[in-house]
Amino acid sequence: MLTISGVVRSFYGVAALRGVDLSIARGTITGLIGPNGAGKSTLFNVVSGLYAPNIGSIKFDGQEITGRQPDDIVRRGLIRTFQLARGFPKLSVFQHLMLYGPAQPGEGLWDALTSSRRSREREEQLSEKAWQIAKRLRLDPVIDNPVTALSGGQKKLVEIGRALMADPRMILLDEPMAGVNPTLTAQIGEHLVSLNKSGITICLIEHDMALIRDLCDPVIVMADGKTLTAGRFDDVVADSRVQEAYLGRRH
Ligand code: ADP
Ligand code: MG
Repeated sequence: MLTISGVVRSFYGVAALRGVDLSIARGTITGLIGPNGAGKSTLFNVVSGLYAPNIGSIKFDGQEITGRQPDDIVRRGLIRTFQLARGFPKLSVFQHLMLYGPAQPGEGLWDALTSSRRSREREEQLSEKAWQIAKRLRLDPVIDNPVTALSGGQKKLVEIGRALMADPRMILLDEPMAGVNPTLTAQIGEHLVSLNKSGITICLIEHDMALIRDLCDPVIVMADGKTLTAGRFDDVVADSRVQEAYLGRRH
């Protein structure tokens, strides 16, 4: 579903990605792990079009997406989760979901606010979709609450909900459980499994190794801006190169 070949990306002359090669198979929940600074988040930023790679190729579903704009990549069905918009703390869960009106260019909140018939129909469709997604993520009881009133875990679910508004075929999740209590972490994990069963390919960056073990197969390990290895969880954590990468960083 996603093939990354020889991707290099530097910032101010320092390479954060030094030739990344990896592929992610359709239908999987693939884990992406590695010590801090390995380049995992940067890789998501490059794949999602936020940064162009200096060198290399990224193919999504057989099509070259290297250097494409983020909204183009979203429209193709590949989306990463975003941190909740910090600028809009008073917006409700429903409004946050509606903000994400991505399917056609030029459509979104602005069109939803104008009164042409087409826009009104579109708004109704988006609204129906927002409700369905809220129900699917069990956010419907809090759908009219401002996001600031939500628990950390519910905020993470809103981020996932916003991604779902774009009808993704693949989602990139950067630490969706960070700072969330164990009960909600387990619930988010269950939602990810259920989204995956509905046909969405998932790539998950996560520090919690127990979660990676329970949710992900295969697991890809990055270190120092490159892919170190990939395989079943038990095999990659038993790999001495992986252990060294984690230890080397700690000292
Ligand atoms: P990880 O997510 O694996 O912890 P990151 O991708 O966040 O690692 O970081 C990899 C390296 O890239 C780090 O050294 C980081 O400082 C650098 N980096 C990432 N984004 C930028 C940026 N926008 N400007 C400068 N350096 C960056
Ligand atoms: Mg990161």
